[in-house]
Amino acid sequence: MPELPEVEALVQDLRRRLVGSAISRIDLAAFSALKTFDPPLHSLHGTLVDDVTRHGKFLDIDASGVHVCIHLARAGWIRWRDEVPELPARPNSKNPLAARIVIDDPGSETLSGLDITEAGTKKSLAIYVVRDPMEVPGIARLGPDPLADDFTIDVLGGILAAEGRKQIKGVLRMQSIVAGIGNAYSDEILHAAKMSPYKPSNGLGEEELQTLYDAIRGTLSDAVARSSGLAASELKGEKKSNLAVHGRAGQTCGVCGDVVREVSFADSSLQYCATCQTGGKPLADRRMSRLLK
Ligand SMILES: [Zn+2]
Repeated sequence: MPELPEVEALVQDLRRRLVGSAISRIDLAAFSALKTFDPPLHSLHGTLVDDVTRHGKFLDIDASGVHVCIHLARAGWIRWRDEVPELPARPNSKNPLAARIVIDDPGSETLSGLDITEAGTKKSLAIYVVRDPMEVPGIARLGPDPLADDFTIDVLGGILAAEGRKQIKGVLRMQSIVAGIGNAYSDEILHAAKMSPYKPSNGLGEEELQTLYDAIRGTLSDAVARSSGLAASELKGEKKSNLAVHGRAGQTCGVCGDVVREVSFADSSLQYCATCQTGGKPLADRRMSRLLK
């Protein structure tokens, strides 16, 4: 799933390609992906793209005051095409294409565009066409952006204290608390902070709060720096090859040499290093022990 750094890199890539060009048309291939009906899709035809921005993990294409907001969910992605077919894309349940935004670049003979795709059978990619991004419920609910200037250590401290004894791993990936962090980067941040994923959100001392704050800013801004300038097609590989623990169960921790471990967590699993994060003591897999009883 793309998280803040990948969406930020997509924004930079799309801004470079789209700003100043007009949207020629939008083909909707998966009807269920479009969550709004007013303004209609065709109201975007012929409008100039003024900017491309991000709200948490949502992409926002601002076309002369009408916003196309896209949430890529678990298996969604953007693919740039230098040349798109003349004929509109047709709905086809076997095709991963959810929608195609066709771009009219005045300097080019052919139409280019971006394909918004979603792999797999569970469809949760969402596209909203709105006059104000705050009309999108998932955007209106977002907590502060962890890379914004006003995301200070006091802001983080206040947010975590308010969550009580919830486990820090779960708190970090709640979009209403901090925007843009998901399953992968919460694992990475906690590994960088040498902190147990099960630590209570309100149980951090002053020094631990500073360490966590630095880990959030450092991990995300390093990932953004590595990703910027890359094309959408290169981002997934870049992310995967630079993760320290996420998705690396059974491999060696690059910091201490211990093995990276995995436990189930909420609807998926988390990866961590016991030596770096939990004083050498492996976490109990609650789901596993429940099943064995
Ligand atoms: Zn380690």
